[in-house]
Amino acid sequence: MQRTNIRNVAIIAHVDHGKTTLVDQLLRQSGQFRDGELTGECILDSDPLERERGITILAKNCAIEYTDRKGDSYHINIVDTPGHADFSGEVERVLKMADGVLLLVDAFEGVMPQTRYVLSKALAAGLAPLVVINKMDRPSAQPDKVHEEVFELLIELGAEDHALEFPMIYASGKEGWASVNPDGADDVHELFDAIIEHVPVPDLDSDAPLQALITTLDYSDYVGRIGIGRVFAGELRAGADVAVIDSEGNHTVQRIGQLYCFSGLGRVEVERVDVGDLFAVVGLTNIDIGNTIADAENPVALPSVAIDEPTLRMTFRFNDSPMAGREGRYVTSRQVRDRLYKELQSNVALRVEDSGDAFVVWGRGLLHLGILLENMRREGYELSVGKPEVVFRADENGKRLEPIERLVIDVPTDTVGPVMQLVGDRRAEMTHMETVGARSQLEFSIPARGLIGLRSRMLTATAGEVIMNHRFEEYGPYRGEIGGRVNGVMMATEAGQVTAYALAQLADRGIMFVVPGDEVYEGQIVGEYNKDKDIPVNVVRKKNLTNVRSANKDMTVTLKAARDMPLEAALEYIEVDELVEITPDNIRMRKLHLKESARKRAGRKPVGV
Ligand code: GDP
Ligand code: MG
Repeated sequence: MQRTNIRNVAIIAHVDHGKTTLVDQLLRQSGQFRDGELTGECILDSDPLERERGITILAKNCAIEYTDRKGDSYHINIVDTPGHADFSGEVERVLKMADGVLLLVDAFEGVMPQTRYVLSKALAAGLAPLVVINKMDRPSAQPDKVHEEVFELLIELGAEDHALEFPMIYASGKEGWASVNPDGADDVHELFDAIIEHVPVPDLDSDAPLQALITTLDYSDYVGRIGIGRVFAGELRAGADVAVIDSEGNHTVQRIGQLYCFSGLGRVEVERVDVGDLFAVVGLTNIDIGNTIADAENPVALPSVAIDEPTLRMTFRFNDSPMAGREGRYVTSRQVRDRLYKELQSNVALRVEDSGDAFVVWGRGLLHLGILLENMRREGYELSVGKPEVVFRADENGKRLEPIERLVIDVPTDTVGPVMQLVGDRRAEMTHMETVGARSQLEFSIPARGLIGLRSRMLTATAGEVIMNHRFEEYGPYRGEIGGRVNGVMMATEAGQVTAYALAQLADRGIMFVVPGDEVYEGQIVGEYNKDKDIPVNVVRKKNLTNVRSANKDMTVTLKAARDMPLEAALEYIEVDELVEITPDNIRMRKLHLKESARKRAGRKPVGV
């Protein structure tokens, strides 16, 4: 007994290959929505931060009710997966909800590292790909070449059976069409048809005792934790008594509260969820990733799902800079604590260790923690954070292990020399290199430590031309010391407003991070010094205190461009005795000890907790 009209499909793609745009079109063209119900572009990236960065941060579900030309109706669950390496654990988990994958590849860029990685996970999970060559409208599209690349990728991943014959659709999410024909079509219906034909019907037993797996968590202030998952056997009923089995095998008998199915972009409350379908459930105590919801009389656990171990940690503390409290609504240590504990309810890979006024926050990588910080500042929080540190482990003999990542870079061929030098200094080992004319692709295995601060130096070494991707691979033997930041910094000696006059005086000392008019405080990091030590500088000096008109004259001074230091760049930049101050409108870097005398006393000691 199975419902033949359910299809569960995960979309996997490299970031920017057009996943969100295409799903958006599928939703719009399903006929499920009235005019005006879907407004704006990219409805799937509903989070403002996601929209701004153009990436999908958290996997999301949506569902489409689709009636084909023969009049048969289908319930298609679409799971959008995050495209960034920091969220790879999330990808693995959400694949558990799917029976097939849409592999989306940009018709110009072709297969990228992330495509390779996520596809290997999908194949390992036994899912067959339906390949969509997207962005066919691009003038430089080369679908035949991309087709060839997908073929080779499947061979390389050991999927010869799929390589010989995989269903393929050409599409332009932007223009709103998808077709088996590269010349295009009027709409995306051929993609719906391909999903119905090629994504297997969930092969499951509805008469068997209930087994449902929780693969994702959500949180709401009103109902608390929400478990999201899939029914693998039997059926789930609202109000029923069930056994909840945790990953250690402990059982608790609980009553299901409200039950929801996915529909469009939202969820609808239902009495029953059929086998094979996806659901959201509220009212279960301590529900967690990897829990099985089982028949109370006959409880049998499903295989649990692994949760990523954190590889990076940072110390979060309340903001105690002289400018604290100017912009934020939430500035106390207690408010920061409450927000972090709320985050723990749904942010699976996050850990928080409370030590009074500071919190050590553990996460999957710089992007994972950076996104949390970015969200907090948008919500009106102020805080300061210390230098990110990787999390070491020990093997059974007590030998030190560290997180090792795979780094793939694409650089102009004539910069390969300096690039090799740069990654070599960071204990990277080259695993692959390929030169095609003016560009070279290099692959390395590199300690995660070596990645901190690498991007800005790569940009310098390649005149901004580098394309860089990395992902966690494994814990491996510690590779030895890696030097920190080479350059020292310039710290402001006094508070005030930065003048063009002062900056002009400092022009040949290094690169500034501030521009005239910025307000600074003593101990704030205002620039990078050319030399390998720190120097205090006066950036608020005026040319002539009595001559008011000189301010205008200052404007004629041509200054070197200041270096913009957005959040992640600042986090990668700071050293152990420095902090990044994060407020709703500003990102500043500072010394932990703002006064010169206090710094002298402390030396370059780490920011302790
Ligand atoms: P995602 O990161 O995979 O979700 O990709 P998005 O859907 O957010 O799209 C990334 C970028 O590619 C955006 O700038 C889109 O406007 C653009 N884009 C998406 N689909 C197409 C397409 O079919 N053709 C072209 N030319 N651009 C597209
Ligand atoms: Mg997206």
